[in-house]
Amino acid sequence: MNTERENASPPDSREASDPAVRMEGVNKWYDAFHALKNIDLAVGRGERIVICGPSGSGKSTLIRCINQLETIHSGRIVVDGQRNVDLVRQETGMVFQQFNLFPHMTVLENCTLAPMKVRGLAKAEAEETAMKYLKRVRIPEQAVKYPAQLSDGQQQRVAIARALCMNPKIMLFDEPTSALDPEMVKEVLDTMVDLANEGMTMLCVTHEMGFARSVADRVVFMDRGEILEIAPPDAFFGAPQHERTRFFLGQIS
Ligand code: ADP
Ligand code: MG
Repeated sequence: MNTERENASPPDSREASDPAVRMEGVNKWYDAFHALKNIDLAVGRGERIVICGPSGSGKSTLIRCINQLETIHSGRIVVDGQRNVDLVRQETGMVFQQFNLFPHMTVLENCTLAPMKVRGLAKAEAEETAMKYLKRVRIPEQAVKYPAQLSDGQQQRVAIARALCMNPKIMLFDEPTSALDPEMVKEVLDTMVDLANEGMTMLCVTHEMGFARSVADRVVFMDRGEILEIAPPDAFFGAPQHERTRFFLGQIS
């Protein structure tokens, strides 16, 4: 048998081969409303997934179930090999359409709060980490300002930096550019492209199809709580399989 080889494997080799996210037969209801129907989705480490679909199709629900902001009724979701709520939350960074920054705290304080409270970092260390990520999203000079003093695009970049300060393994984005003025969409997408290029595992709900084409490894199309289609961008945009997908793509283009 191959026990020798197994014994020679490093202790974390099994974990390293686990997908970043595995959803199996996931169902969720809001009262009588069936919001997620038999969702199967495995996301590889470093994979970039774009999720699109009509309003109300379950995109936010799917994302929120992954980091356990919502509970599921059947099936299972494993994130980085684990199902423990606290661990899963610590491994996933989330960026929402509304930036959800604390208005009474500076940019720097927004970024250091969770690392100090949840991870127990000392202030100096948390601030060093925060400045690293504020540089990465290209707004270190805004650190001492309050959110209201920033443009929407800058606020969303702070929200991304804040999520990164927890050193997540997976970043979840729920329509991060939908609330932005058109001229600010690019600066936020650019920081997301940077992240993707660094190898971050990402699931992004977005209708920015240029981003999907250039960054996504696979595009997921959801409709009425189901994953109808999942394919690499070339196939997804070039030869969508479902009438609903073609209709949707026709509408947003
Ligand atoms: P999407 O993000 O694709 O627009 P959502 O996941 O937000 O869709 O919502 C999917 C469906 O579930 C919608 O019909 C929505 O009205 C419903 N829904 C979402 N959240 C709740 C909730 N907290 N309570 C009841 N229904 C909800
Ligand atoms: Mg949504």
